[in-house]
Amino acid sequence: MRVLVTGGAGFIGSHYVRHVLSTSADHVTVLDALTYAGSLDSLAPVLPSNRMTFVEGNILDESLVNDLVRTHDVVVHFAAESHVDRSFLAGTHFLKVNVLGTQRLLDAARRHGVAKFVHVSTDEVYGPLVASAASEDAPLRPTVPYAASKAASDLVALSAYATHQVPVCVTRSSNNYGPHQYPEKVIPRFVTGLLKGERVGLHGRGEHVRNWVHVRDNVIGIDLVLRKGTPGEVYNLGGGTDLTNKQLTERILDACGADWDRVDYIPDRPSNDVRYAMTWDKAKRLGYTPKHDFDAGLAETVAWYRAHPDRWTPLHRAADPPDSNVTPTPADAVLPLSYESYS
Ligand code: NAD
Repeated sequence: MRVLVTGGAGFIGSHYVRHVLSTSADHVTVLDALTYAGSLDSLAPVLPSNRMTFVEGNILDESLVNDLVRTHDVVVHFAAESHVDRSFLAGTHFLKVNVLGTQRLLDAARRHGVAKFVHVSTDEVYGPLVASAASEDAPLRPTVPYAASKAASDLVALSAYATHQVPVCVTRSSNNYGPHQYPEKVIPRFVTGLLKGERVGLHGRGEHVRNWVHVRDNVIGIDLVLRKGTPGEVYNLGGGTDLTNKQLTERILDACGADWDRVDYIPDRPSNDVRYAMTWDKAKRLGYTPKHDFDAGLAETVAWYRAHPDRWTPLHRAADPPDSNVTPTPADAVLPLSYESYS
């Protein structure tokens, strides 16, 4: 089978590409614009494979997308602007990439009759949940521009199934962690900051709750949905660990051998959902079971950042204060990292 993977040079996409190449005989083509978040280093071990092709390009490029989709059996769509804090400053850019980019791919998928189209999304589309957990038919109540753009793209993808029978499945995972993540979201941000001897900033009182899934569990789930999922369906993919950000910080401090005196409590984000939670019974029926123990996965993640300072030190600007002089423009793909950035 010929698999087109968009965003395959990013964090989750690159783990997915390695998973497919090591567990199947499929040929993988990666389409990735190599924005600040993408890196060919993440694909270095598999780039020499004769079952792997890399194409540098933008999902908004209609003719390129059309040519690539035409020669592939299935599409797994990861490419997106993925960082909540950046979306506060660049909402238009997020909508263009995440919504219009998805529509471009769906148009080509419809034209060329792909066998399956997996649209990769997030639990953030459900918005804050105080006590309950969202099943796949829960209402979408996103509260930040990133999550709103993902919710819109989910609806666009599902409407392509309803209207044109494009065989779309949507996956919604919780927060991913693991090696190879760009150091802007909380785990790689805190780990790299602490390894550099810097201080880290915890939003508000650290009471927000997130569910954590190891990236290798998520990519196994996404692949199950590709091969066994029913078109038109949404599949939640959660992990076994729910933590407040304060509990998460405690685990990261332990894993890095650091103390609370390295943590500052800083003002909360403009919008910060109090809790995300999902059930994932549908994915379970496809054979999905998240297997990674959180502390072991975190230790592996810290070990990876410790062993690869070349990959993140040049990107890491923890000392930068939030820059109030930044004027967001639609083309702003690289916004300054703020001290407290995380998703
Ligand atoms: P990432 O930011 O690490 O990678 C995104 C990749 O997409 C990069 O390689 C980037 O170069 C590429 N890209 C961005 N714009 C592009 C464009 N216009 N054309 C082509 N390529 C483009 O993101 P990630 O964390 O790997 O997330 C992948 C997907 O999973 C996203 O759709 C995201 O919304 C979703 N998701 C992420 C998480 C998480 O915890 N990271 C959780 C749930 C869902």
